[in-house]
Amino acid sequence: MAGPTGAPDRISQCCYQHALTKDAIFCGECGKPLLRCMAYQECGGLVGEDGCCSVCVRPQLFLDKDAVTDVKAGGVLVLPLVFYNASSIARPLFVTDVWVREGDGPRRRIELPWKRLDAGGSNRLTVQTGALERQGRHGIEITFAAATNYFMREERFAFTSSLGLEVEQGGSLVINQTINASGVGSGGDTVYAPIRLETMADSGRKVADTGGKAAELGLQRADNFEASQGIRGYGDGALKGSVVSRGARIVWKGFGDQTPAAGPITTGDSILAIGRGKAVSEGGDNHLQLLAYGADGKLDEQLSQAISRRHIELFIQSGRLCARVTGSAGIKIGDHKHGADDAIALINHGDIINVLPKFPEAVGLQVRMRANHGQIDEITITRVPALPEANSR
Ligand SMILES: [Zn+2]
Ligand SMILES: [Zn+2]
Repeated sequence: MAGPTGAPDRISQCCYQHALTKDAIFCGECGKPLLRCMAYQECGGLVGEDGCCSVCVRPQLFLDKDAVTDVKAGGVLVLPLVFYNASSIARPLFVTDVWVREGDGPRRRIELPWKRLDAGGSNRLTVQTGALERQGRHGIEITFAAATNYFMREERFAFTSSLGLEVEQGGSLVINQTINASGVGSGGDTVYAPIRLETMADSGRKVADTGGKAAELGLQRADNFEASQGIRGYGDGALKGSVVSRGARIVWKGFGDQTPAAGPITTGDSILAIGRGKAVSEGGDNHLQLLAYGADGKLDEQLSQAISRRHIELFIQSGRLCARVTGSAGIKIGDHKHGADDAIALINHGDIINVLPKFPEAVGLQVRMRANHGQIDEITITRVPALPEANSR
């Protein structure tokens, strides 16, 4: 059984093959950019625009075999849920929040007695519904947020399971679930076997007839929910509710004859390193070499020395552009100074990253993004001051 919405099938096998070639940035067969998981070194996983690695992030949700409805208490349904981490590498998943929604009612946050879900491990959570009507259909939606970590980085996602409950005339309760498969090449909707809760005549209770096993509940990525709750994307400012696509093109401007080609982040660690060290194209290991120039256009050797060889790392994390400072001089964004020991800095539209806080006019990176229907597909990073296109040095 595949993970959420059959995720492992979304990335073509040809891309995995071509990604094995170090420094490969496009698949030689289908031409798609190779977007590697932040933990690629460990998992070998590729991600789509949604940023979710199906090797690292494979939650599964089950309804345990002892689900019961308590008829005496007015038809309350007790759902014993089992969260399972099906990651094939030893990557834990952190379930941070669980919400339950009945019908069109509000989402209710369920208190979690646990958080960490080790690979191959499971945790239980019992959820109780309100009183069910005797007849008719009821919808129950179980949504949860989960995080995966790799060193200092973290990706967060939300998944949801929609259950349709139907009380049959004989009093039996049937749980139906249909997943709208949206993956490319999928064979349409996935229909799971209904879960039947039969009446036990003597006790007046109903128990799930799941053949003595826990029944798997279908999971779907809840991308709208992620954006509206700030689980992914920007939670405030002009880009509130918008999510940077993992495949967003980075467009560089004002870097003179050193301007890198525009494109998504396709490096092995999904990081763009920037600093005084040489660019990859010149035998170094930075994506972009950053040096300071004087007003006369000549290289300022002394000021350039204040820029560390690897000064900033840019990457997309949980649908936001982020920067980690690795340079000793730090950076400044607006009035905030960020040093190498500080948490990852969130980069917003309009921000100017001052590469040398003590000399803010020396080298700046101005970041611009625009959202289209809540998705950011392009990020423009402009050097201020800009270097002349044909820079002579
Ligand atoms: Zn391919
Ligand atoms: Zn991964």
